[in-house]
Amino acid sequence: MPEVVETAPGIRIQDPALHPIAEKVLDGRRLSLEDGNVLYRTPDIHAVCRLADVVRRRLHGRLAYYNINRHINYSNVCALSCSFCAFHRKRGQEGAYEMTVEEVRDAAVGAAEAGATEIHLVGGLHPWFKFDHYTTMLSTIREAAPSLHLKAFTAVEIVHLQRISKRGRDGLAGTMAVLADLHEAGLGSLPGGGAEVFDDRAHDTAWRGKIRGDQWLDVHRAAHELGLNSNATMLYGHVEGRRERLVHMDLLRRQQDHTLRNWAGTQGIATRPDTPDGEAGVLLTGPSDAYPGERLPMPGQAGLDTGYFQTIIPLPFFPDESGLERLPGPTGMENLRTLAIARLMLDNIPHAKTFWIMQTLGMSQLMLDAGADDLDGTVVWYDITHVGGSGTHQETTSNDLRRAAIEAGCIPVERDTLYRRVKRNGADWSLVDDSAAPPDVSPSIT
Ligand code: SF4
Repeated sequence: MPEVVETAPGIRIQDPALHPIAEKVLDGRRLSLEDGNVLYRTPDIHAVCRLADVVRRRLHGRLAYYNINRHINYSNVCALSCSFCAFHRKRGQEGAYEMTVEEVRDAAVGAAEAGATEIHLVGGLHPWFKFDHYTTMLSTIREAAPSLHLKAFTAVEIVHLQRISKRGRDGLAGTMAVLADLHEAGLGSLPGGGAEVFDDRAHDTAWRGKIRGDQWLDVHRAAHELGLNSNATMLYGHVEGRRERLVHMDLLRRQQDHTLRNWAGTQGIATRPDTPDGEAGVLLTGPSDAYPGERLPMPGQAGLDTGYFQTIIPLPFFPDESGLERLPGPTGMENLRTLAIARLMLDNIPHAKTFWIMQTLGMSQLMLDAGADDLDGTVVWYDITHVGGSGTHQETTSNDLRRAAIEAGCIPVERDTLYRRVKRNGADWSLVDDSAAPPDVSPSIT
């Protein structure tokens, strides 16, 4: 029986291989890819979760964020046929659909009237919609429901829009121009979907034809340069290996370092030279001297002239109805471990989300105790991939989300898309002035 060591109150570690990693986490130092491998291999998964919880408490105390939102998947018709995807259809195929701009608008207006703060708008790469269809969709929603934040279009959709707007050969300048047009029409931020796993072998096996990881990162870099925030996903449990997941996390981490380095320097926030590649990393998850336990400022505030990745969202692969049905998909323990490792590795992305639609609300409660601080939202309708199969109504209420958080020992906090706190009276809502009353993120809150 290995010796059980208590490295910090409440963190009992059985596996000696975890001791140096625990020291790094407690000191606020960056974990290497090899550390990530150890975290994946260790049988002591409870210690992995406890370490992730240390980081989560430093950043957010026991707060658990959720939002009131509405997902709209405007069409499942797609020019591509990624083998892991159970969502896409060809035009005319059974189950194929396209929402008109008016249908999208009506769904958004209904959501706004019910109190939603956000629309999450994504779809397939429709072969015939013109570029102005997308700008019209955004501007129509903005006009009909101006209070809604429009988080729309994954990176592969942005590249598709770049092509159909005849800017496909313009490189990053073309991406910026497309994003600027969409922003002008009402786009508020980018969701994190479509990243899958940044690995060319996995790409060529399961989503050949879709953009590669470097293009996904370029689209988000362009959005950040325009001052738009975005999120980042990682779809795991299919043809990739654990090492490839860790490389994916590291690539996100490097890009976020690059994005935040200037700002961190002006704020006196430590840029740590102890990153594995010797470059200065911006660690937000260390003890309080490294990051003050508050959310990052909005782009344009406090010397931050760029957008950034707000949230890492690990997404488990669902084989059912996909072209990879032969694969088993990840288990609950693998999901828990991957969420905890993502929280530990991605030390410069402020939030870690457990997307309850794909993790289940019960598993999400456990994840709130293993690194996650965000449950996502009420969703209402989600067609892409989730527990229970595609095409089923997926909705929870804010009361369900609050109850799930409280039962997990957390303090539920409604947020908007940009993680500003929301004050609510039924369907009416407004933003809380955090400068007047910052949220209590004391790690001692239980
Ligand atoms: S994953 Fe996206 S791009 Fe690939 S087939 Fe599905 S909807 Fe189309």
